[in-house]
Amino acid sequence: MKTRKLLALMIVPALLFVCVFTLTACGAQHTHDWNYWEVTTTATCTVTGVETRTCTDAGCSKTETRAIPIGASAHVWGGTWVVTDNTATADGYETCTCTLNPAHTATKPGGTKGLEYDSIDTPATAYRVNKGTAENKNIVIPATYKGLPVTGIVVGTFKDTTIESVVIPASVEEIESKAFMGCTNLKSVTFASGSQLKYIRDDVFEDCNKIESITIPSSLEYIGFRAFYQCKSLKTVIFENGSKLQTIGGEAFSVCSALVSIVIPKNINIGKDAFNNSRAGITVYSCYSNLLEWNVWVNDQEFLGGGKNYELTNATRKYYSEQAPATNPSNYWRYVNGVPTVWA
Ligand SMILES: [Zn+2]
Ligand SMILES: [Zn+2]
Repeated sequence: MKTRKLLALMIVPALLFVCVFTLTACGAQHTHDWNYWEVTTTATCTVTGVETRTCTDAGCSKTETRAIPIGASAHVWGGTWVVTDNTATADGYETCTCTLNPAHTATKPGGTKGLEYDSIDTPATAYRVNKGTAENKNIVIPATYKGLPVTGIVVGTFKDTTIESVVIPASVEEIESKAFMGCTNLKSVTFASGSQLKYIRDDVFEDCNKIESITIPSSLEYIGFRAFYQCKSLKTVIFENGSKLQTIGGEAFSVCSALVSIVIPKNINIGKDAFNNSRAGITVYSCYSNLLEWNVWVNDQEFLGGGKNYELTNATRKYYSEQAPATNPSNYWRYVNGVPTVWA
């Protein structure tokens, strides 16, 4: 008993001494020069992360850590989106589950309710979408139906309706003729990234006079007769870099009286009066790199009996250059974030 008490009496002051000595040796006499906080463990949707900072003073390697809160959006999505098809009365949707916590799900819009699908081949290998009983002004076409790709939009299906926007999935390869003709409220046409669209057939967007600009996927090969005829608000037409376009049909952009600029890919065939009665003084962003190449191509067009396309031949032209040109940089352009942009 007595030895134990004695020991305790000796240990307590010894501990106190150590504590006080430690405080004066570091904490009290040295103000740490903290480096920036660095993320050493990233937070996820289920686990907090860690940030660490270190004293930069020589001889001091003191570090501090602090927690990063659980990231509300730091999910790890499983990768597979599960599609629920639209019905006549309910919108479709797609969901994906977080691999860290199956209670976390993400949802994105699928097919607009009322859309219907025609099978291609028997048994079906793909589907073409038609308007069905859809009444919504904002149409989302799904990439799949019954697990198969939606590859087409049926002839004339939205013609003369009051739709205002349409999202076209990457799976669609063909927009059949007159599909959106006379949609006078249609303002927004969005092609999903990675689009496989090849054909915009005749009259597809004819008289859609609220569309102001359109970006054509690089996969597109064919624009039909009068495809954008009388799109009177259409100001800019951009063909994505690497365009596979081969044909712009006759009168395709005729009476597009607001047209300000258009990208013209190389080696394409342009039909008669493709730009007839478009606004005088448009800027053409040619994918050719100089006037000589351009003239060879234009003469070829006339030789093909494609009409004169005066608006094209008289247009202000910019030539394509990936490098900053040494002289006259304002005559050359390149894509910046997908938008044709003049050097200097
Ligand atoms: Zn320090
Ligand atoms: Zn999660």
